[in-house]
Amino acid sequence: MKVYKFGGASVKDANGVRNLKEIVAQSIDDLLVVISAMGKTTNALERVVAALAKGDEQTAEHEWLNVLDQHVYIMQDLGLQPNVDVRLPMMPEYNQEWSYDQNYDQIVSLGEIMSTQIVAVFLLKSGIPTEWWNMPKLLLTDNTWREAQVDLRPSAQVIRAGWNRAQRPHVVVTQGFIGGTADGMRTTLGREGSDYTAALMGNFLDAESVTIWKDVPGILNADPRLVANTIKIDQLTYHDAVELAYSGAQVIHPKTIRPLENKKIPLYVKPFSNPTAEGSVIIEHAAPINVPVYIWRTNQVLITLRAKDLAFVLEESLSHIFQIIHANRLRVSLIQSSAVTISVCVDNSRFVAKAIEQLQDAYRVTWNENLSLLTIRGTTPNILKQEQQGRDILLSQLTRRTAKLVIKD
Ligand code: ASP
Ligand code: MG
Repeated sequence: MKVYKFGGASVKDANGVRNLKEIVAQSIDDLLVVISAMGKTTNALERVVAALAKGDEQTAEHEWLNVLDQHVYIMQDLGLQPNVDVRLPMMPEYNQEWSYDQNYDQIVSLGEIMSTQIVAVFLLKSGIPTEWWNMPKLLLTDNTWREAQVDLRPSAQVIRAGWNRAQRPHVVVTQGFIGGTADGMRTTLGREGSDYTAALMGNFLDAESVTIWKDVPGILNADPRLVANTIKIDQLTYHDAVELAYSGAQVIHPKTIRPLENKKIPLYVKPFSNPTAEGSVIIEHAAPINVPVYIWRTNQVLITLRAKDLAFVLEESLSHIFQIIHANRLRVSLIQSSAVTISVCVDNSRFVAKAIEQLQDAYRVTWNENLSLLTIRGTTPNILKQEQQGRDILLSQLTRRTAKLVIKD
């Protein structure tokens, strides 16, 4: 079997859904299709939750109706009848007895539910034998709202059983990004988490391959929105891919690689608009990447810690510092130490302020926000010089072939 994943940009309008159908129709046999919410739906639903939490019903309703309108519009364009072919959900309510994050998961997950229902019905009406799966009942997670951890074993069991029960040939359409707890609440796996869902499905079902369909020709050596002349990397190893993803490359979600590497399942990244093109493949063995790779990670915070009494015992402090960082779910993108300081660069998130507060109990803390981290893999002195020019660089780190620059925006 194979797993295909289509992101929000691929199903942002009726043409996208029709194109998806063409791609799926080429390999109907034994296909599991993972889909994100349509276009920018997830962002819009986040605004609905935020407005509801503030008690701003008017904004919430306005945002909600916009989301529904977009789905209705796409359905009509596809020849589907809203509330006949797919029942659209009611305006969600905010439950005051739950935390914000628990409410978030119940509401934001509706984006994937709607997109998959629309696509499944459309495929079925186009003559493709399609089954719709409800991930909140299949992909079982804990209740770490907004960043739920998947219970791998029971999920694998349920999903394998479901797969074996299904008729052949057939296509299963299901949601990325969402799962559910044993007591029936919906959960989300973290923004952009659909790639991870696809990888888990590949792992559970021993897929021959997983393909992520994207709006780029494959994995490029730089973000085409930032750099004019990008080069496609045809093949890379799981190891390369993890490195790129953690440096902030937007093509793949960092958690995606491990489930695939475990079973040596190749991951293809292919252009949605040109399905027969080769794209890129991530596999166990590949030729070394022979072009410099530029990865920008934006919205960084550089935190520098100094001992209050100058008696800085690095070894002892490190584990304490990282406990706090870990407990506050910060994502570290760079670490640098000197005799008396430790600097860590982290993704800005809603948890940073609290972590800084806790660090201040034991250290003197300074920090800068609105930074970018540029990682250049396969750098040369010339490239480095060029990239440093005219930039306000707060910190640079150089290893044999990789340069990391923390830059003020
Ligand atoms: N729709 C979710 C998001 O935008 C998940 C995904 O696209 O992977 O974050
Ligand atoms: Mg999305």
